[in-house]
Amino acid sequence: MRFLIVVSILATSILSNAQDVPGYSGKFNAIDRLLAPPNAYRTASGAPGENYWQQRADYKIKASIDENTNDLLGEETITYFNNSPHDLSFLWLNIEQNVNRKGNEDFGDVLGGVRDSINSLQMQYLVRPIDFPAGTDIQSIKDVNGADLPYIVNNTLLRINLPELLKSGENIIFSIKWKNYITDRAQFLLSREGYEYFPEDDNKVFLLGHWFPRMAVYNDTEGWQNKQFRRLGEFALEFGDYEVELTVPKDHIVAGTGTLINESEVLTKIQRDRMEKARKSFDEQLFIITPEEALKNEQTKKSGTKTWKFRAENVRDVAFASSRKFIWDAIAVELPTNTVMAMSFYPNEGMPVWNEESTNGVKQALEVYSEATFDYPYPVAISVNTSNIGMEFPMISFNGGRPVDGQISEQARRGMTSTIIHEVGHNWFPMIVSSDERKWMWMDEGLNTFLHQRTLAERYPQWSSTTPKDIIPFMMGDQKTLRPIMTNSDNDLLFQMGANFYQKPTVGLQMLRETIVGKELFDAAFKEYANRWKYKHPNPSDFFRTLEDGTATDLDWFFKGWFFTTETVDIELADVKWFQLKEEQAVVENKQIKGNSKRISGSGSGAKGEGFSDGPQPFTMVPTSSSTYRQFLSRLDEGQMRDQLSGKHIYELKLQNKGGLVMPVIIEWTYADGTKEVQQLPAEIWRLNEAEVTKTFLKTKEVVNVAIDPNQMLPDVNLENNVFPRPKQNDKFEEMKKD
Ligand SMILES: [Zn+2]
Repeated sequence: MRFLIVVSILATSILSNAQDVPGYSGKFNAIDRLLAPPNAYRTASGAPGENYWQQRADYKIKASIDENTNDLLGEETITYFNNSPHDLSFLWLNIEQNVNRKGNEDFGDVLGGVRDSINSLQMQYLVRPIDFPAGTDIQSIKDVNGADLPYIVNNTLLRINLPELLKSGENIIFSIKWKNYITDRAQFLLSREGYEYFPEDDNKVFLLGHWFPRMAVYNDTEGWQNKQFRRLGEFALEFGDYEVELTVPKDHIVAGTGTLINESEVLTKIQRDRMEKARKSFDEQLFIITPEEALKNEQTKKSGTKTWKFRAENVRDVAFASSRKFIWDAIAVELPTNTVMAMSFYPNEGMPVWNEESTNGVKQALEVYSEATFDYPYPVAISVNTSNIGMEFPMISFNGGRPVDGQISEQARRGMTSTIIHEVGHNWFPMIVSSDERKWMWMDEGLNTFLHQRTLAERYPQWSSTTPKDIIPFMMGDQKTLRPIMTNSDNDLLFQMGANFYQKPTVGLQMLRETIVGKELFDAAFKEYANRWKYKHPNPSDFFRTLEDGTATDLDWFFKGWFFTTETVDIELADVKWFQLKEEQAVVENKQIKGNSKRISGSGSGAKGEGFSDGPQPFTMVPTSSSTYRQFLSRLDEGQMRDQLSGKHIYELKLQNKGGLVMPVIIEWTYADGTKEVQQLPAEIWRLNEAEVTKTFLKTKEVVNVAIDPNQMLPDVNLENNVFPRPKQNDKFEEMKKD
């Protein structure tokens, strides 16, 4: 999911150095105590174990939409396979639409309650003064012989009591009849689905998501994942095959998950011919329904209905969009192992930008994500236009953003395209790499945003994309309200979760890739994770372990700090000392004694923050006593050492960790001749003292400036203490006078 919110950040920063996390004793201690121990289901390397099991659910669904009453009537037959080693006496299914029933509007409170002035829409969110029916009515549940199965509804979850145990290894077939009240998307703050009404032409776009009762996950770590749906923690679902028949108004066009299997019954000859052409069109996107045809369609409403039939294999959900307003375009995208139809459905209100950006955005995402993980395996990838927010489903996403009076700012165009890439990207995380969204929002949003930003950076270089410095304002926020990434999905503030679950994991992965691990190894391990867990249910520990497994890099310190705490990065360059060895006059004059004992001294400075103007600091290097070498050790060639040091510069850097997070130290040296050199110290330099480190460097050239991470590869919250010599207040004043 993706929506635009203004993240309000308090300017004050309360930094704490030690956080009260169980097992967090020592930043370089093993992470083991924070993760579930490996077992036969999930191995210590992060892969599925030899006894890994997973449930499966196949669905046959028939449903119809009444566009006048907005009712959806449905009937489904579910075949549920109990692959677990346990016998089950009841089943849990999701009926998330019940969150929209009156009494569940706890979400309105995020707007801050009643104020002196509150707009009518916010008031509707808050207490719903204008009521309307919503949710799912269960009409009947029957077993394969037509006998009623008893059930209990607990808000967004439905429990079916089984007359006899569903034994391990067996399956059960049962049918549910239900009615959904399709609601106006404008009535809710986070409307993933519902209908959008267009008063100008009295038409609707129906967006069917989470619209049928579907199996909750039962697995080795959760048992039943039956936490209530509270709008933010999204979905945890099982894989299976679907056959869906949707009956809609006759002149509606339906876009949906899966392969349309009755094209000849629902598409015209012209549309089918165009589709056939599009299937071979890899360079040019073609219209299946043109803007003119869609305009005509929305003006001439036909009576009667039509049934669209779809089949989808190995998916965890299905979603559909239906309207007579749709323009439809398509292009074929060739991946190494699959040819995919990238398609978009949008009303004329989306012109002229939707035809330019949508299907192209789908294609870019398919290519970049496939390369980074595994080839997109499904036959279609669809983007449907909506008024606002973006929401993902297998093979189809509903994406917000349109021009106003045919005009769109570059920023809005970027936002819209970015949303399309993001939602298409969700096909990988969590639609295929099927993590538990209800528990860990970051596992799908974070990993997806990481690749979504990479797609933007690689395919849309003209637009900005996230880099580590973008997370600084969030990380400097009020520690009283900040929560770590490893927070359950529904337990973070609405106005912070975008930064915490989307952006912060993205930046974390960017740092691993660019700075800590390196691209080649990181990309291989990330790909390994995606391939190990495709069509399965990974947990955070499986991700952390696979990244270490695939890179031979101990990242426990990083995962602990970045994912389990709210500490910040603030490395201070506390002091720089400069030494230059200078041979004493007598020694220089008498080269014969070189190599024997003598005193080498320098002179100099380096007082805190004051610069290099006083020259190097004196010190003495005396010969190592022969007893230190012991009998069988070879001696240093002191003459050679003096040659190596002669005329060179020694710099001693004192670094302090002010933010709490240990990180690599990136040092940029600027030399007197104007050249620069960048050096990187690994995070492990902090492992003996997490607060302060002194490190000495030998340089051939004289240094005039030292800067820590000037290009902001890491989100250091305070750059002012990163530089030596520090800019003086007087210098700043002089500069201002010049302006
Ligand atoms: Zn998302």
